Amino acid sequence: MYGTKIKTQHEYDESIEIHCPLCKTNNVDGYPFVYVEKVKWLIVVTIGGKQTPFVKCSKCNGKMISKMSIDELPAYTADELAPFLIRENGFAGGVLAIFALALSFLPIVGLLPVLASLAINYNRSGWQRVVTLIAIAIQFVYFMMMIGVQITAPNS
Ligand SMILES: [Zn+2]
Repeated sequence: MYGTKIKTQHEYDESIEIHCPLCKTNNVDGYPFVYVEKVKWLIVVTIGGKQTPFVKCSKCNGKMISKMSIDELPAYTADELAPFLIRENGFAGGVLAIFALALSFLPIVGLLPVLASLAINYNRSGWQRVVTLIAIAIQFVYFMMMIGVQITAPNS
């Protein structure tokens, strides 16, 4: 009934030449690897799974998601590969989104992390973006309240 998720990592010895989007180094060695996530039933029967190809930068050890399968990578030059290697900042984006939400309850102070989170998470689907939009909504409510207070405050 219940599947067990098993995560493994297959590394490749052959390096490819890449432009690293993380440390901005051009023509640096990149090491492709595949992150395999299998769902097994009773530990033996594979009922599903997905593979995500990654490339690791030899200079900064940063990992980027490859939009191209590992087998295809060596056929392309670093220039051609650049659009297919995507910076993986999902973790940082998530941390920033939670940070923004926590601080969004503070008027004004919360605005900066909210905007930073929006910049990172805007093009992402998923909960990071939802959390960021909630934080923006909270900041917006504060902003409206402040304007409201200024209009209705009696002159003393
Ligand atoms: Zn790098």
